[in-house]
Amino acid sequence: MPRILLTNDDGIYSEGLRKIADALRDIGDVIIVAPDREQSAASHALTLNRPLRLLQLEENEWIVDGTPTDCVNLAVLKLMKEHRPDIVVSGINFGPNLGDDVTYSGTISAAFEGALLNIPSIALSALVGEHFSFARCAEFGARLTRYLLDRPRDPQIILNINFPVSEFQGVKVTRLGKRVYSEGIVERLDPRGRKYYWIGGDAPTWHPGEGTDFEAVQNGYVSITPLHLDLTHHDSIARLKPLEELLGPVAKRS
Ligand code: MN
Repeated sequence: MPRILLTNDDGIYSEGLRKIADALRDIGDVIIVAPDREQSAASHALTLNRPLRLLQLEENEWIVDGTPTDCVNLAVLKLMKEHRPDIVVSGINFGPNLGDDVTYSGTISAAFEGALLNIPSIALSALVGEHFSFARCAEFGARLTRYLLDRPRDPQIILNINFPVSEFQGVKVTRLGKRVYSEGIVERLDPRGRKYYWIGGDAPTWHPGEGTDFEAVQNGYVSITPLHLDLTHHDSIARLKPLEELLGPVAKRS
């Protein structure tokens, strides 16, 4: 049986994690290592300045008082050290992880951590609304996992999957969309008359773009976006090359 490491950023008690765990048990041994509380938007944070606790809840179920990245590290380098996972599955997140938002996402960062440890990894996120069903997402998520386990691929490339709210019209392989940054900051007063702030408010809106993840889910398709951690903008390297001549002597004199 393949070994499936399951984690998330919504915490061990989230319904999305439970539903995908049940579906994945049909295709492999599922080892859950998840944060003990919600860590949404934890991004790729790694806890280095305090001790981490690992607590076993069930035979194949552990909680960590840290981030999704901490969970993947502790799972792969400690708990599963002798028998590494064949795939890391992160999710199913309650809410989308699309376009420009991917760098905030703890769900996606857990998959990137899997990639850094050379394990094929996927992130699953569900748009929520009327007629939304974690069960439907979990069924497809498990089928996709099965497919990927049968076809080894480059572990450096993670797959970011977003499920549309309503019944699936099909699958689209997509690129990241661009978010419209309009929400701003919500300012309120607390009961003692001091100001406090919430980042964002309304649901984000997106620039229309053909072939984007946002377009796919809006049209009812499951979106699959291949992502990698190399943030280098390769086209700019040649354009910036003159800086070496221009600023080199300045650097030498510094
Ligand atoms: Mn989340």
